[in-house]
Amino acid sequence: MTEPGTIMLVGAGPGDPELLTLAGLKALREAEVVIFDRLVNPELLAHAPPEAERIDAGKTPGLTHAMAQERINRIMIERARAGRRVVRLKGGDPLIFGRGGEELQAARAAGIPVRVIPGVTAAQGAAAALQIPLTHRAAAASVAFVTGCGAGGEEPAGVNWQALATRVDTLVVYMGARRLAAIAQELIAGGRPVDDPVALVRQATLPDQEVRILTLYELAHDPAAADIAPPVIMITGAALHLREGQQTQADPPRKGL
Ligand code: SAH
Repeated sequence: MTEPGTIMLVGAGPGDPELLTLAGLKALREAEVVIFDRLVNPELLAHAPPEAERIDAGKTPGLTHAMAQERINRIMIERARAGRRVVRLKGGDPLIFGRGGEELQAARAAGIPVRVIPGVTAAQGAAAALQIPLTHRAAAASVAFVTGCGAGGEEPAGVNWQALATRVDTLVVYMGARRLAAIAQELIAGGRPVDDPVALVRQATLPDQEVRILTLYELAHDPAAADIAPPVIMITGAALHLREGQQTQADPPRKGL
């Protein structure tokens, strides 16, 4: 049993409720407070005891009614200080985007015992659904998880598209839905071949999953191709040639990091 007054940062997985880990399930069953995000499948909340407090942190990016991050941190810490077992349930993996790192730091700074239970991140959910190996001995020696937008939806600071274009084999872009054409243009400008395949996966692992397979060129230049509502994950690289039913000769991995 988890100690009272502990915060558990739990990965809920990418959408399919079956993709929660057993450790995550156990944490939910023992929870006295569950603070959950917008991308968490609501079905998972049924695993928490009926009397557990459920708090919707509904963080829709850019919307003002969203609970500010500081407020989430405060609620999480207050409840734990009151001796309750707090589960902070986050979409995918808690430490891949989604500000899990900030919550971890806040809990530590407050002196609250905190544990992290990993989750299946969206990249893995989408890759499994499409049967794309993110790495492959013959086709992809490296993979990068990259953010497609900054905190306010703008071009992300600190992402070197040019370096990523030529030095990383498989690229997975999170939070890119609003900037897909611009991202494709930056990758092409950085030297990525225009005919590199791209998969856009919306609502990966859920019954309404949508998949679009196209080329970098189409994504960069056809506005309709890039028009897709979030949550979307973009996967690009030669590994896509190895997706389900598409086995062709693989390109050699890109050279040198
Ligand atoms: N911690 C999460 C990511 C949070 S950032 C994780 O590990 O998956 C939110 C972004 O994740 C979305 O903008 C989208 O790019 C991606 N994402 C999350 N769930 C998704 C899903 N079911 N299908 C497609 N993309 C998803």
